[in-house]
Amino acid sequence: EQQRKVRSDERSAAAFEEAKQYIPGGVNSPVRAFKSVGITPIYLERGEGSRVYDIDGNAFIDYVGSWGPLIMGHAHPEVVQALQETAVKGTSFGAPTLLETEMAKLVCERVPSIDIVRMVNSGTEATMSAIRLARGYTSRSKILKFEGSYHGHADSLLIKAGSGVATLGLPDSPGVPEGVAANTITVPYNDLESVQLAFTNFGEEIAAIIVEPVAGNMGVVPPQPGFLEGLRSITQQYGSLLIFDEVMTGFRVGLHSAQGRFGVTPDLTCLGKVIGGGLPVGAYGGRRDIMEKMAPSGPIYQAGTLSGNPLAMAAGYTTLKLLTPAVYEQLEERGARLQAGFERNAKELGVPVSINRVGSMVCPFFTEGPVINYDIAKNSNLDHFRRYFAAMVNEGVSVAPSQFEGMFVSGVHTVEDIDATVEANYNALKSL
Ligand code: PMP
Repeated sequence: EQQRKVRSDERSAAAFEEAKQYIPGGVNSPVRAFKSVGITPIYLERGEGSRVYDIDGNAFIDYVGSWGPLIMGHAHPEVVQALQETAVKGTSFGAPTLLETEMAKLVCERVPSIDIVRMVNSGTEATMSAIRLARGYTSRSKILKFEGSYHGHADSLLIKAGSGVATLGLPDSPGVPEGVAANTITVPYNDLESVQLAFTNFGEEIAAIIVEPVAGNMGVVPPQPGFLEGLRSITQQYGSLLIFDEVMTGFRVGLHSAQGRFGVTPDLTCLGKVIGGGLPVGAYGGRRDIMEKMAPSGPIYQAGTLSGNPLAMAAGYTTLKLLTPAVYEQLEERGARLQAGFERNAKELGVPVSINRVGSMVCPFFTEGPVINYDIAKNSNLDHFRRYFAAMVNEGVSVAPSQFEGMFVSGVHTVEDIDATVEANYNALKSL
């Protein structure tokens, strides 16, 4: 698995040309087209542990991890085995199975706010359903979200969104009716004063605040001390619900997710990514009295043909079982080592870089920092990022093709992987 400095991308380029004839933009999710970084998207063929391999024969140390789910690396043997054993017994029934209850039990045990939980098929479905529930429960229409946060692509949530919409400069999407957009209030992340002002004006109409407890779709932006606590007390004061979107942070930043790590308990929590172990899964859960408003115990509707399907439950359950306290200690340690190495490199080479990290979520911003919200994140030198990204790829390191996404360290990245990545970072920064 030689890492080549002159990387071939002939096959990827041809594959992309063909795909564009049959798939819009050639991809099934926009960021995969590498549009904002101006290089050919890399077609992957295989992943194993901390490595991915492309169709041109290049190997990469991978920090994308399928955009977060693969916290135990690619094709983890226990996950693969669970999938194989499950698949031969049937892939979907649309009937209850014992594994769904086992999975729900485990999630309820580990996530402080979750008394009871419903499985869906993506993070988008999880947040969309949680918003519907919050509106139904409170009989209110407005929601409050933060600029540069991404909560999936449901209409109400696609306002001043982060992630791919930020990367492509499309913060407000055509196709979202004005009437829907008017019910979404946005304020800057980490800005309690703006939240308070919005509640002073509209508090009685706000069904919920939805927040990423660590913002992971504008790069990585940790909550400032008191921010999450402030959201908790404001929502309580006005009878609104607090929804933590832990699609990215759930089981990523700790055994008890971000709410355990920061000690703030929301009313509802959305999960995805890690809990699916690489298969399509989302979930939303929380206070029993609220969740029981969902059909069939209550009147608010949400359903899914493939929800809780055996393959997704098997991969997710096996992944969660692999996540011991020791794994989180290691994630913390490896994340810190990566951060320290990157900081050392930037300082030595005199490149303005500000690195945010929460556990295994790491993001080098090409700006002096500190980066505490989307406006500051947007000030990053995007030209530096573009060239850095291309250089990292040539150094054999796969990171997300956007300044507004973090790196995900996994439980299978070795110290050698981290040190090789720090060296690649040095060379990439030097080439700027
Ligand atoms: N919420 C957050 C915080 C996310 O990071 C994402 C996806 N990156 C979503 C929701 C949407 O999840 P999905 O792509 O599975 O629909």
